[in-house]
Amino acid sequence: MSQATATRAAAYAAPAPKAPLERTTVPRRAVGPRDVLVEIRYAGICHSDIHQVHDGWHEGIYPMVPGHEITGVVTAAGAEVTRFAVGDRVGVGVIVDSCRTCEHCLAGQEQHCADGPTGTYNALDRAGEPTYGGYSTHIVVDEGYAVRIPDALSLDAAAPLLCAGITLYSPLRRWQAGPGKKVAIVGLGGLGHMGVKIAKALGAEVTVLSQSLRKKDDGLALGATHYRATSDPATFTELAGRFDLVVSTVSAPIDLGAYLRLVRVGGTLVNVGAPEEPVRLDLFSVINGNRSLAGSMIGGIAETQEMLDFCAAHGLGAEIELIRADQVNDAYDRVLAGDVRYRFVIDAATI
Ligand code: NAP
Ligand code: ZN
Ligand code: ZN
Repeated sequence: MSQATATRAAAYAAPAPKAPLERTTVPRRAVGPRDVLVEIRYAGICHSDIHQVHDGWHEGIYPMVPGHEITGVVTAAGAEVTRFAVGDRVGVGVIVDSCRTCEHCLAGQEQHCADGPTGTYNALDRAGEPTYGGYSTHIVVDEGYAVRIPDALSLDAAAPLLCAGITLYSPLRRWQAGPGKKVAIVGLGGLGHMGVKIAKALGAEVTVLSQSLRKKDDGLALGATHYRATSDPATFTELAGRFDLVVSTVSAPIDLGAYLRLVRVGGTLVNVGAPEEPVRLDLFSVINGNRSLAGSMIGGIAETQEMLDFCAAHGLGAEIELIRADQVNDAYDRVLAGDVRYRFVIDAATI
């Protein structure tokens, strides 16, 4: 692709809500003075991609090219780019722009931009053009919204860190998971397995709460000390009041009150799962024990870089199953069936 003119890139897109993804091409803008052109190597499949392709969050723009767990190599850079050079290994996550002037942008919390952050896909950019995500061969992005992939991380195992990694790293740091803290991760999927790895690396004692014991050996190998099935009512009685911090990554509506009762007095349940339906909550689960229910959305750009450097220092990548692009629809079915260990990653060379 050339640097000077707008062009088209091969991609996999859903033409309409719930439609299977199919190969197509999408526009990519000319590389502006502060832009880098990234040749995409890998794109992770996040459950958020499936929610959005299925229009489960009721805000779908079609055709939709999902993908916000992107790694690749810079192949062109605008004249004013200072942070990256051709040949650099970079990542692009969930957002590609924000206002840069509001209090949240200035605080490095671009994901909470008061003017609305620009999503990597399923969004309109600041020129009003639709954005298209990482299931593609190339993307053009402002250098301020790209991050550096440390040499110690392979580009395929690093891709899921751009969403799953930062979405767990940010709350685990904010709520001080570390030595002496008991942390439970609910749901051992793409987000959950990174939560186990990162919480363990931070020094916390980690428990996995999964629907069954099917993945117990994996959970212990990833760093958990305990692994309990939420299908067993004894889990909720025996672990009542046990945890300093519970992080729910569950993609479906669950009884959060039952999980809040596992939190110790004054502790917190952080929900990062984004189910398509609302949940009902028994408020005595927060009143009793002065517990807090919190949410957390990805992380800022600088924090995403910090997370990547942390993962590199601790040798943490995602556990991935590499697929060809034409397997993406089967991969969606498998994620929905809970049949993923623990992140599908598309090899962009097959697009
Ligand atoms: P995933 O790989 O499908 O993992 C979700 C896990 O939730 C499953 O592995 C399963 O774990 C558990 N689960 C699924 N259905 C369940 C049910 N009915 N009852 C109880 N547990 C259930 O998905 P993901 O990519 O990790 O994403 C998880 C959620 O986080 C999605 O809703 C996604 O949209 C959201 N998300 C939020 C953010 C954010 O910024 N807050 C960022 C990314 C993603 P077990 O098999 O172990 O039970
Ligand atoms: Zn995601
Ligand atoms: Zn802003």
